[in-house]
Amino acid sequence: MSAITLEEITKRYPDGTLAVDSLSLDLSDGEFMILVGPSGCGKSTALRMVAGLEEISDGELRIGGERVNELPPKGRDIAMVFQNYALYPHMSVARNMGFALKMAKLSKAEIDRRVREAAEILDLSEHLERRPGQLSGGQRQRVAMGRAIVREPQAFLMDEPLSNLDAKLRVQTRAEIARIQKRLGTTTLYVTHDQTEAMTLGDRVAIMKSGVLQQVGSPRDLYDTP
Ligand code: ADP
Ligand code: ADP
Repeated sequence: MSAITLEEITKRYPDGTLAVDSLSLDLSDGEFMILVGPSGCGKSTALRMVAGLEEISDGELRIGGERVNELPPKGRDIAMVFQNYALYPHMSVARNMGFALKMAKLSKAEIDRRVREAAEILDLSEHLERRPGQLSGGQRQRVAMGRAIVREPQAFLMDEPLSNLDAKLRVQTRAEIARIQKRLGTTTLYVTHDQTEAMTLGDRVAIMKSGVLQQVGSPRDLYDTP
């Protein structure tokens, strides 16, 4: 089944910039799709349209089969993981992860259950009472992922989540993300300009250039393309 469908999605900014030109992509349920391309090719714009943070100029976006073009971000049941993860410094890891759920008025027992489960998946169980300042960069990035995971969304959207980490940590965390995505089985659209990341992380890779989709395929298929 299709989890997310972009059908000839176009973004024209008010100043006339054609950032995304008739982009069509179909993510199946549980799929990990990478959107890769050089800076300025329209990746973030595409992701932000899926998230509902940017108006779609033309085309149709469907999530779980339903048209969501006009739906606000909150109505879309998707969680975004950014590169600039701002954790609340005065809150514990558990409270950082549970904050959105508290705002959504979930019961304390439910928040607690989800936070514990996410912490277990993310290998953060030992650190739930710590403050972000007492964690390593990689652990902080995992807390940021935890905040998305506890929402149990239909899909994750990730915009260069590793770009703030140093090279070694980036490779480690990349492997972690792949493992976690497979374990949760949550449909994921992941944006990066890093070709190595693109070729090692996802089930399929979509290559964009100047707002236009060039190719879509498994890393294997793309390697074998002359
Ligand atoms: P990427 O994420 O691949 O770096 P972006 O989606 O950020 O690319 O940008 C795609 C194009 O749209 C670029 O030419 C960029 O300058 C332009 N752009 C991005 N945001 C805006 C905006 N708010 N107004 C006008 N043009 C924009
Ligand atoms: P403590 O007794 O340690 O101060 P609480 O009893 O207030 O903690 O909360 C227990 C659990 O409920 C936390 O571990 C957390 O999962 C959740 N929780 C409580 N307050 C918040 C909050 N402000 N934001 C997010 N989660 C919270």
